[in-house]
Amino acid sequence: MAPSEPKPLSPLDKDQLQGLNSIREFLKVRTSYDVLPLSFRLIVLDTELLIKKSLSILIQNSIVSAPLWDSRTARFAGILTSTDFINVIQYYCQFPDEMSKLDQFRLNSLRDIEKAIGAVPIETVSVHPSKPLFEACLRMLKTRARRIPLVDVDSETNKEMVVSVITQYRILKFIAVNNEHNTVLLKKTVLDIGLGTYSKLATARMSDSVLDVIHLMVDQNISCIPIVDGNNRLLNVFEAVDVIPCIKGGIYEELDASVGEALCKRPDESPGIYTCGENDRMDSIFDTIRKSRVHRLIVVDDDNKLKGIISLSDVLKYVLLSGVEDTSNWS
Ligand code: AMP
Repeated sequence: MAPSEPKPLSPLDKDQLQGLNSIREFLKVRTSYDVLPLSFRLIVLDTELLIKKSLSILIQNSIVSAPLWDSRTARFAGILTSTDFINVIQYYCQFPDEMSKLDQFRLNSLRDIEKAIGAVPIETVSVHPSKPLFEACLRMLKTRARRIPLVDVDSETNKEMVVSVITQYRILKFIAVNNEHNTVLLKKTVLDIGLGTYSKLATARMSDSVLDVIHLMVDQNISCIPIVDGNNRLLNVFEAVDVIPCIKGGIYEELDASVGEALCKRPDESPGIYTCGENDRMDSIFDTIRKSRVHRLIVVDDDNKLKGIISLSDVLKYVLLSGVEDTSNWS
């Protein structure tokens, strides 16, 4: 039998491919340094710090993560994120008798906590800020990291220095702001390209406890749970970062509170939730990213019923890898 001819590309497909290829080329000639603003602050935490102190520092500074520094070895030691606090909560659930010890734990105990609860160790990934941005994106996708520290080496002292942290959002916004002429070519709809997750969605109700929702996030290895009503209508979204205000002051008992109560503790500057429809086009998703601090889009129908979730990792994966058959030799 003669091999079947590949289907000719439609004009829509051709534009989409051209847009994606141009964005990929752009990412190969830009570095992580290019993404950084001219002036920024960087809060780095010493691993000798008490975990409960680190929590207050994050809250006081309205940040949700910070790179870690081991001053004994004078080396970068990973990044503190909401996943670490979720691990601490799991530790509290598994070893309730050790509650008094929990207060004394320092950031350098995080790896022991991880081992004690049997969590998959968090890889200490970093990238050099002068490497192509494309590489940083691939590292993020491979390790499922939503943020990645940029670590340079001082040429005089040969010592490591943490330059900044880049997030999936910053990268996608950088693409959106500098590539409008390419993102307008992405006219296929979310439905056409199957962007996001549409089956086996993990959801919760306002009355569920924060602990139940945290367990759901851990079991499914996801960073957000849509909160729906009895008719599957979207009410809100509980995100991994929402855990931080819940354990403020080291009071873990408050985790028995409902999701509804926990969401009231969100800081005023929280970006809120963004929704889209299945027929929205990829260019409009980039428009939203260009204009707003969006961390995911929840796909709803005309009746506001939950249909799916588009995480920034889904968007980044699509932009980098869709249509690429062999990615085995990509570092
Ligand atoms: P994230 O953890 O947000 O980076 O998402 C990782 C993957 O899980 C992405 O492919 C998302 O579409 C998917 N995802 C995110 N949240 C949920 C959820 N609540 N239920 C099912 N899948 C999800």
